[in-house]
Amino acid sequence: MTVAVIGGGISGLVLAHRLRTRGTEAVVLEATARVGGNVQTLAQEGYLLESGPNSFLDREPATRELAAALGVEARIRPADVAAKNRYIFTRGALRAVPSSPPGFLTSDILSFSARLRVLGELFSARGPEGVDESLAQLGRRHLGPEATTVLLDAVQTGIYAGDPEKLSAEATFPQLVKFEREHRSLILGAIRSQRAARKATASDGGPKSKLTGLLSTFDGGLGVLVDALAAALGDAVHTDAKVEGLVPQPSGWKVRVREHGRPVELLASQVVLAVPSHVAAGLLRPLDEPLAAKLEGIPYAPIAVVHLGFAPGATPKPDGFGFLVPAVEGKAVLGTIHVSTTFPFRAEGGRGLLTCLMGGARRPDVVARDEDALVALAREELKAMTGLSATPELTQVVRWPRGIPQYTVGHLERLASLDAGLKRWPGLHLTGNAYRGVGVNDCIRDATRLGDALA
Ligand SMILES: Cc1cc2nc3c(=O)[nH]c(=O)nc-3n(C[C@H](O)[C@H](O)[C@H](O)COP(=O)(O)OP(=O)(O)OC[C@H]3O[C@@H](n4cnc5c(N)ncnc54)[C@H](O)[C@@H]3O)c2cc1C
Repeated sequence: MTVAVIGGGISGLVLAHRLRTRGTEAVVLEATARVGGNVQTLAQEGYLLESGPNSFLDREPATRELAAALGVEARIRPADVAAKNRYIFTRGALRAVPSSPPGFLTSDILSFSARLRVLGELFSARGPEGVDESLAQLGRRHLGPEATTVLLDAVQTGIYAGDPEKLSAEATFPQLVKFEREHRSLILGAIRSQRAARKATASDGGPKSKLTGLLSTFDGGLGVLVDALAAALGDAVHTDAKVEGLVPQPSGWKVRVREHGRPVELLASQVVLAVPSHVAAGLLRPLDEPLAAKLEGIPYAPIAVVHLGFAPGATPKPDGFGFLVPAVEGKAVLGTIHVSTTFPFRAEGGRGLLTCLMGGARRPDVVARDEDALVALAREELKAMTGLSATPELTQVVRWPRGIPQYTVGHLERLASLDAGLKRWPGLHLTGNAYRGVGVNDCIRDATRLGDALA
C-alpha cells in the first residue's frame, strides 16, 4: 500500500520525492490546481514575481542534496554582492545594519545610550530555568528595550512577521537561548560559536560563505524547485484533489478525497498531513478533538505581498537587499525587498522591482484591504520612508490570510504533546511549516527527515 501525502506544498512534495527515491510508493493529494503551496513564481511582463518566499540561505545540506538529485543544482543563483547591505527604518530614516560587531559601536542604528546598554549585555544574567520566555523578554534582559524594539523586532519581522511579546524565544531563535544557556552572554556565545565554526570550516578547507550561507534562489525563481519536484513525481501528484476525511482502518487509513469534483477513496498504509495546521485540525477533529484543538492552537500571521515594477530608468536602483520596519514605527509595510538589486535577472532590461511585505501579526487589518488600497498604502509609505515617488508600470498583490505560522510561547510544549497525541494513531504523521521551522530550508529538512524515517 502507498503513503498518502496530503498537501502539495514544498513539504509534501519533498516528502513524497524522498519516499519514492527510497523505493516507497507515495502519492501527493493537493487541493488546488497547482502544487507549490506558498512557493509560487510568476513570469509577468518582464518580471519574475514571487508570491511567497523569495530566497533561501544556501547552507542547508538537505536543500543542496535535493537540488542535485533533481538536476537543478547548477541553476542556484546567489544574491548579487550589492545585497550585502541591509537597512532598518528607524527614528525617521533608513539606517544601515552594521555588518560586524565593531561597526555596530559607531553605527547610528541605535541611540548612543542604547548602544552602551547593548555593551552591558556582556554582564547580563541568565533567565529563569525551565521557563519558555517570549523573544521580547529575552531581548530586554540581554540587549535592553531599544535594541529589542528596533533590532530584534526587525529581525523577527523578516522571518515571522510576528509579535515578539508572543513568540517563544526558544522556538523561534533557539541559537540565542543556547548561547544564554551555555555562555550566559549572547555576545560571548556568538563570538565563541563563530570562532569554532571558522576553525571547523578552515580545517575542512570549505569557503567562508559556508558559515552563514549565501542568500540564493534559482535562475527562474523558487518555482524551479517546485517544477522539478512535480516533474520527478509525475502522475504521483494529484492536483484538484482535496482531502475531506480520514478513516482509520485495521491496517492503514482510508482517505476521502474530492478529486476534480468527484468523491474518491484511497487506501493508504500511512498518511502524512503536510497541510497548514488548521487544515490538519479540521481533518482530525472528527477522530480526536484534543489533538485537533492543539493543532488549531497554532496561530498564523496574515501577510500581503505587494509587487511594484518600474520601467527601465524610472527609478534609481535602490541600494542593498532591502529594509525592515520595526512595529514601533507604526507602518503597514513590514519590509521591502529590493528584488532587482538582489537578483537582477528577476527584472529584465534594467527594470526595477520592489516587493513590499505588509500586515503581519500586529496589523492583520492591513491584509483585509482591497488590492488598490494596498498598492496605494505601500506607495505612500515607501515615499515617506525612501522618497520614492515614481509610478510603477506593474503592480501585483497576493494576500495570504494565514501566511506565516507563529511559534508562540508554549510552542515546544505543544509540539511534544502533539507527538504524544499522535501515538494514538499509528501511521499518521505531520510535517510542514507549522512545527519545526517556517523557512523553505526547514520544510525541506523536516520532510526529508520524515521521508527517511517512513522509508
Ligand atoms: C509571503 C511569504 C513569504 C515568505 N518568504 C520566505 C522566504 O523568503 N524564505 C523562506 O525560506 N521562507 C519564506 N516563507 C515561508 C515558506 O514559504 C513556507 O514556510 C513554506 O513554503 C511552507 O511550505 P509547506 O509545504 O509546509 O506549506 P504550504 O506551502 O502551505 O503547502 C500546503 C499545501 O496544502 C494544500 N492543502 C490545504 N488543504 C488541503 C486539503 N484539504 N487537501 C489537500 N491539500 C490541501 C494547500 O493547497 C498547499 O498547497 C514565506 C512565506 C510567505 C507566506
